[in-house]
Amino acid sequence: MAKELKELTPRSENYSQWYQDLVIKADLAENSAVRGCMVIKPYGYAIWEKMQRILDDKFKETGHVNAYFPLLIPKSFLSKEAEHVEGFAKECAVVTHYRLKTNHDGTGVVVDPEAKLEEELIIRPTSETIIWNTYRNWIQSYRDLPILCNQWANVMRWEMRTRLFLRTAEFLWQEGHTAHATREEAEIEAKKMQGVYADFAENYMAMPVIRGVKSESERFAGALDTYTIEAMMQDGKALQAGTSHFLGQNFGKAFDVTFVDKEGKTDYAWATSWGVSTRLIGALIMSHSDDNGLVLPPHLAPIQVVIIPIYRSEEQLNQIRQKVDGIVANLKKLGISVKFDDADNRKPGWKFANYELKGVPVRLAMGGRDLENNTIEVMRRDTLEKETISCDGIETYVQNLLEEIQKNIFQKALKRREERTITVDSYDEFKEKIEQGYFIMAHWDGTPETEELIKNETKATIRCLPLEGDMTPGKCMVTGKPSARRVLFARAY
Ligand code: AMP
Repeated sequence: MAKELKELTPRSENYSQWYQDLVIKADLAENSAVRGCMVIKPYGYAIWEKMQRILDDKFKETGHVNAYFPLLIPKSFLSKEAEHVEGFAKECAVVTHYRLKTNHDGTGVVVDPEAKLEEELIIRPTSETIIWNTYRNWIQSYRDLPILCNQWANVMRWEMRTRLFLRTAEFLWQEGHTAHATREEAEIEAKKMQGVYADFAENYMAMPVIRGVKSESERFAGALDTYTIEAMMQDGKALQAGTSHFLGQNFGKAFDVTFVDKEGKTDYAWATSWGVSTRLIGALIMSHSDDNGLVLPPHLAPIQVVIIPIYRSEEQLNQIRQKVDGIVANLKKLGISVKFDDADNRKPGWKFANYELKGVPVRLAMGGRDLENNTIEVMRRDTLEKETISCDGIETYVQNLLEEIQKNIFQKALKRREERTITVDSYDEFKEKIEQGYFIMAHWDGTPETEELIKNETKATIRCLPLEGDMTPGKCMVTGKPSARRVLFARAY
C-alpha cells in the first residue's frame, strides 16, 4: 500500500537521515541549485505562513509595526560596530559589480570589469547597521521614542554546514529593531519578546522551551545580553529556537543616534533586536514527528482535518458527498481548516498514507456502512488511534480532539525533556551523559576558557543560564573553582 510514501529511514537507525527524508517526502522543501539555499515548497511555505500570521499578530498586540529596509548594506556600515563586524564578517556575501556583459565570442556572460561598484555592498546577514543608520534621521528627541519596528525579510549568512530549514545560507525570518530612551525600557523590551517567542513555541508549536540568557561567548555579536529559548529535539540535542538581544547603546554610538531627553540632556538611544526564522519549521519537525511522517500541532497545521470517502460507485460517492458537505460547512464555521479529498485518481489507502506523512492531525473516513449507520471513522495522527463515532455532534468532537492533540504532543515533548534533563557534578559523568543525548545542568566557573575546553572535548555548549531553576552556588565540574549557579549544557544543532 502506497509504498513510495513509506520509505522514511527510521529515527532509531539514523535520526539525521530520517529528518532529511521527511523534509523531502512530506514536500516541505528541497535543495536548490544554489549552495546552501533551499526551495521552500508550497506545503512547507503554508506552515511558515501560519507561523508568520500568528507571530505578526503578537508583534502588533505588543505595539510593534512593520517596515522594510534594503537587502544591500554598504560595506562601511558593517565595520562601524566592532564586535558586530567581527561576528559577521566571515559569513558575508558581497556584491562587487552592477553589470554583466556578453562574452566577445558569444558563449556566455561575464562580469563587466568597468561596472565595479565604488563601495561594495553586503547582502544583509542581519539589519542592525542599515536600520540604525536610518534611525539617526528618525530620532531627535525623547518624543520620537520608542521606535518599535519589525521587518519580515530574507537574510544571508554564508554558513559552511547547512541543513534544510535548520541552517541555510539564505533564510526567511523576522527581525525586530527597537530604539528606546532608557536602558531599563530596552531591557524590558528584550525580555518581553523572549516571552512572546516562548509563548508561541509552547502554545502554537507545542514545543516546550527553556528560557535563559546566553553566556558571553554565545552572545549575538554586538549584544550586551542575548535572551534565548532553547528546545530539546527528539534525539536529545538542543536547538536555539529564537533570540532577543539587549544591544545597549552600541549601535546608538556606532551610528550616532542621539536624542534630547526630558531634562534637555543629549544621550545615545538604547537598542534591542530579536528574530525567529524558518528554522522553526525544522524545530517543529524534530519535536513531534515519527517514523510514519510529520506530526503537526493542530494550531499550525495548514490542513487540520481531512475527510476521505470510501466508495464503490459514483452514486455512493454522491451520497457520501451530500453527508460530508454539511460536516465540512460546520467545521469551517468553527474556524477549522478542512479538506474533503474526493479526488478519484488515488485510492483511499494512498490518501491515508499521504495525509499521515503530511501530519494532518485528524482524519475522517466515511464509507458505505457509515452512511447506513450515520457514523464516521476518526483517526488522530498523534497516537494513530482510530474509532468510529456518530455523525451527530462530530464537529464539536473534532474541535475538542484538535485541542486534545495539541496538549498531548506538548506533554509528550515536555515529558521527554524532563526525563532527559539531569544534574551532574563530575566531569567524567558529564562526558558520558552528553554522549547519550542529555540536557545537563552543571556548575561552571564562569570563564570562557573553561567553556571552550568543554566544547572542544565534548562538543557540548552552554545553551543558556536558565531564568528559572536551581540558583545555588557550587564548584565548577572541571576546575573546581567557585560557580555562581548551574547552567544548561547540551550538544546543539
Ligand atoms: P541571530 O540574529 O543570530 O540571533 O539569529 C536569530 C535567529 O535566527 C536565531 O535564533 C536562529 O533561530 C535563526 N538562525 C540563525 N542562523 C540561521 C540559519 N543559518 N538558518 C536558519 N535560521 C537561522
